[in-house]
Amino acid sequence: MIPSAFDYYAPKTVAEAVALLREYGEQAKVLAGGQSLLPLLKLRLASPRVVVDLGRIADLAYIRREGEEVAIGAMTRHEEVERSDVVRQYCRLLAATAATIGDVQVRNRGTIGGSLAHADPAGDFPAAVLALEGRMKVVGPDGERWIAAEDFFLDVMTTALKADEILTEVRVAVDGEGARSAYEKIRQKATGFALCGVAVRLRVDEAKVCQDVAVGVTGVGAKAYRARAVEEALRGKEVTEAAIASAAAEAVQGVEPNEDAQASAAYRAHLARVCTRRALSRALAGS
Ligand SMILES: Cc1cc2nc3c(=O)[nH]c(=O)nc-3n(C[C@H](O)[C@H](O)[C@H](O)COP(=O)(O)OP(=O)(O)OC[C@H]3O[C@@H](n4cnc5c(N)ncnc54)[C@H](O)[C@@H]3O)c2cc1C
Repeated sequence: MIPSAFDYYAPKTVAEAVALLREYGEQAKVLAGGQSLLPLLKLRLASPRVVVDLGRIADLAYIRREGEEVAIGAMTRHEEVERSDVVRQYCRLLAATAATIGDVQVRNRGTIGGSLAHADPAGDFPAAVLALEGRMKVVGPDGERWIAAEDFFLDVMTTALKADEILTEVRVAVDGEGARSAYEKIRQKATGFALCGVAVRLRVDEAKVCQDVAVGVTGVGAKAYRARAVEEALRGKEVTEAAIASAAAEAVQGVEPNEDAQASAAYRAHLARVCTRRALSRALAGS
């Protein structure tokens, strides 16, 4: 189908983009890589009056270490996250996650900011950014503010971003000494999206006692979430395969799994437990 008519703007600065969003509010849509927005426009599931393309804003695509964090500009493509030496060295979980997204074309066009702002219940980056306890920088008419990943994802395709705000950067802490991580995903065969994806960050001491663990789950509920019950079951305990299996059983505690044509709620819950167990085992093994 052909999208409804809209006015197209390509501002050169974030300030200009924010001014447009302020002027048009809910009638405007930001365009990043277009991999989610363009299908919505073509299906007329979204019919904005104005499209504000971030593609001409020069300083929104970068990856750099900033102190004890890695800072990634919102317009950084999935492929750049996947291949970045900085990401591979300092937050491997993000590179591993990026590599599982869609196909080559999608990874060459899609942006990390678009993926997080879109908040697809099956999006991969939200799970990883939750497990990495990342934070988002957003800019609006009143200046900038930071939102912790856990406060960012609110519901199906709904975030804490206001209509006149732009996500400009995501930051995650650099992998600390002994940090281990893994992303485990089971794809829907036709689309490549996650039926379930689990991101794990784990730190154990020499006796394999869990010092720190964070688990982000996507594809299962209305939004990506932290599997707190899994984390609680492991923290301070020796991380054995038996302990992992027992903890992974808690992967959907407090969550209502989605039920749709692709998978029943019971199957999604099963996948969440399986992916959690596999991701924890792989992280522990350091593979
Ligand atoms: C065939 C196919 C397969 C895919 N498979 C996967 C997959 O396996 N895993 C996965 O995670 N994703 C998948 N995707 C989605 C892909 O990752 C998209 O790139 C991503 O969801 C959106 O990023 P984008 O840059 O394309 O954003 P766009 O499509 O341009 O925008 C998406 C939404 O976010 C808003 N937005 C974008 N950037 C910003 C910003 N900086 N500030 C505020 N709002 C913003 C837009 O207004 C829009 O509402 C797939 C897409 C396709 C077409």
